[in-house]
Amino acid sequence: MNTRALFLLALAGFTGGALSQTAVVIDDFKSPDTNAQGNYHGCDAGDGITCTWGDGSLTITSSDTDYSFYSQFTNGCQDVTSWESQYVHVKFSGSPNFSIALQQNNPGCKAEVAPYPETWDIVYAADYSDGSDIYIPISHFNINKSRAVGLAFKAFRDAGVETKFSLIEIATGLPGGRSVPEKKPTGPLYFACTRPNSIAFGIDDGVPELADRMMQIIDEAGIKVTFFTVGNALDDPSQPFTKLYQDAVKKGHQVALHSYTHPKIEGLPTVSAIDDEFKKSRESTLRNLGVDSKYFRAPYGTDGALTRQRLLANVPGAKVINWSIDIQDWVFLENDPNNGQTAAAASDIAKGGNLFVAHYLYNTTVNQFKDFIALAKGTGKTIMRIDQCLEDPEAPPL
Ligand SMILES: [Zn+2]
Repeated sequence: MNTRALFLLALAGFTGGALSQTAVVIDDFKSPDTNAQGNYHGCDAGDGITCTWGDGSLTITSSDTDYSFYSQFTNGCQDVTSWESQYVHVKFSGSPNFSIALQQNNPGCKAEVAPYPETWDIVYAADYSDGSDIYIPISHFNINKSRAVGLAFKAFRDAGVETKFSLIEIATGLPGGRSVPEKKPTGPLYFACTRPNSIAFGIDDGVPELADRMMQIIDEAGIKVTFFTVGNALDDPSQPFTKLYQDAVKKGHQVALHSYTHPKIEGLPTVSAIDDEFKKSRESTLRNLGVDSKYFRAPYGTDGALTRQRLLANVPGAKVINWSIDIQDWVFLENDPNNGQTAAAASDIAKGGNLFVAHYLYNTTVNQFKDFIALAKGTGKTIMRIDQCLEDPEAPPL
């Protein structure tokens, strides 16, 4: 081996075959197309986020906590278990009031299989920031690290405020004098049922005019579902929801939490406003329906570190329930002449999705509800409540 080869090996961090002790650069923001690993990076499409690429930087301005930037380690699965004692290091300027997630792929490590990603764990960047550098222990991300996909920067809470990123790397240690806070517990985030051969309907808010028709379709199909209820609608005696869901509980359906006023919780201005959504939602469901639920679906599916942390602080043992079958009622609204919601459900089921999100907001949805149920039955899987499909020992027996 010549001198130059030895020099290059030393640069790459190899010393006698030992593991690298130098940082692994994930993203240097030099190209809009790929990160420093040659993998995908980019922002969600849409009006809620503006991403401006500079020479070695990315400036993000966001007005909506639903939008994210991603920088991937791989398209499939990367085993990062060897990083367990290391740190995600981010160099930035601007607001640190956003979340950083480490994403976990599905067991097949495939982007075309639902759910993709399978889950993630998330921390609040400001907790780990000194104003210019963020250091997060990889151990603070509670995921299966043999199947990591990459990082997501999510839920920018300071609307209109710029945050400029110039480096993401995996650092082997902390700089001198630097410490990190304790991990704040977050609780699990589910996009799919875990019980073999199960499939479940999670039905969120709706309108009073469609409630009875939808419930009748569900009853006639002889299935049990999970209803995520909005607390202030239960507390409103002029609305029919308390009676509707009291009856649902008697029939054996599951009722669960969907916030008190249905905001994008991560975008609320204060932690106490976030706490109120969880406290009041839990109290309302308990007072009106006699159920103290540990299951929560976020309005709009918006995820963020404060949402996950404060949920668990207010509802011990809570689980966040997302979905892997989206009927896309939010796309079709009352204009769905070709049953696009059924086609959307079929497409997600074909990818392996087994956990529905639906509402009863539109006639088009209720008109197709029998078709959704037929599709679910057609998989050969058993339709059940979400607590049953997640093998909760406290769920009623099948
Ligand atoms: Zn909702």
